[in-house]
Amino acid sequence: MTRIAVLGATGSIGTQALEVIRRLRRSGAELEIVALAAGRRVEELCRAASEFSVALVSLRGPEEAQKARKLLPPYVEVFHGQEGLEAIARHPQVDVVLNAVVGAAGLRATLAALSAGKRVALANKESLVIGGHLVMELVRDPDQLIPVDSEHSALWQAMRGVRREEVKKLWITASGGAFRDLPPEDLARVTPQEALSHPTWRMGPRITVDSATLVNKGFEVIEAHWLFGMSYERIGVLLHPQSLVHGLVELVDGNVIAVISEPDMRIPIQYALTYPRHRSPPARRLELAGKTLEFREIPWDKYPAFSVVVQAGKEGGTAPAAINAADEELVAAFLAGRIPFTAIAEGLAYILERHHNVPCPTLEEIETADMWARTESRRWMRDRFGPTIV
Ligand code: NAD
Ligand code: MG
Repeated sequence: MTRIAVLGATGSIGTQALEVIRRLRRSGAELEIVALAAGRRVEELCRAASEFSVALVSLRGPEEAQKARKLLPPYVEVFHGQEGLEAIARHPQVDVVLNAVVGAAGLRATLAALSAGKRVALANKESLVIGGHLVMELVRDPDQLIPVDSEHSALWQAMRGVRREEVKKLWITASGGAFRDLPPEDLARVTPQEALSHPTWRMGPRITVDSATLVNKGFEVIEAHWLFGMSYERIGVLLHPQSLVHGLVELVDGNVIAVISEPDMRIPIQYALTYPRHRSPPARRLELAGKTLEFREIPWDKYPAFSVVVQAGKEGGTAPAAINAADEELVAAFLAGRIPFTAIAEGLAYILERHHNVPCPTLEEIETADMWARTESRRWMRDRFGPTIV
């Protein structure tokens, strides 16, 4: 029996993971959920905890934990905060940690799980973006860290049986986000509502906005750099509006291996949980007849944030942590209607320029850079858009 902890269980990935596990269990798979963690949606988390009879629960803060204790039977252990996430991630009753927390808040749990020798199914790409070197040095066996992100799941599958020296380049695809077909001059006026309507995926709010700026794609380039040990020059991005091809591995002899599936996150979530096995599909079957696949160069000038993010990745050190933290602040301000969409890229460029990089940072240095970038980006927003902004 594989015992799973789902961190971020009330989110877009988390709820789809519960659905996948429910289905796998019905079809006789030897999986059980033993722990669940989330931020603020206490009732929802407690409902899931009762359904799966979990023994361990963690919530964001002490008040949420207190509320959960009242709703759950007394044998359920309730934790809270970063320590709670870490306690679950390294708990002896857990074999696999599915980390679907959003943002920098996910890093410590990934590190705790890997140090305790658990397998990690990683949706929280920020773990690799901000702490790639810390994460990868804890991976003892290559199958210990399995990506959930669809592009990386595709590359992971395409790379099976391929020798590293036979790979010329890795390619990930981008849908282009909500404003793919909008002229660049209209971007300053788009609303949060418009940014949240992604053409092909239904995801949490932050990653949906990050898809519209292509910050998400920049993060995915950094994620691929760490996961596959590839230099930035050997990771390319293609605009692919249909979101059917997720990742491509170009080999030195001219062959290209592509992984194609319905754009449905339940597929990579399930694969990360059943790896190395493929089981019956959690989503509808892909019907290729009648489908068209298009690939284009990204119109880079329309997505200035992408190159800022990749530049931060190339600089390494604490630069990606600063950029990630600034992006969390800028996206939250945009979603609250306080800054225009185009200010996200502007703010990121400002933070990268101002940041004093610390090479090979410790976890504490990463967290200091994160805090600095949050304060500095809020200050930048106030200076740029007025004192009532944040
Ligand atoms: P979401 O906002 O829908 O859900 C986030 C979850 O994290 C929620 O359960 C929330 O309660 C929890 N959470 C947030 N802060 C927390 C904290 N401090 N402590 C404990 N729990 C906390 O986000 P999502 O779209 O599901 O994305 C989750 C992660 O997966 C992100 O890193 C994202 O980049 C990645 N990802 C998502 C998708 C997708 O389709 N949604 C695809 C690829 C990768
Ligand atoms: Mg992705």
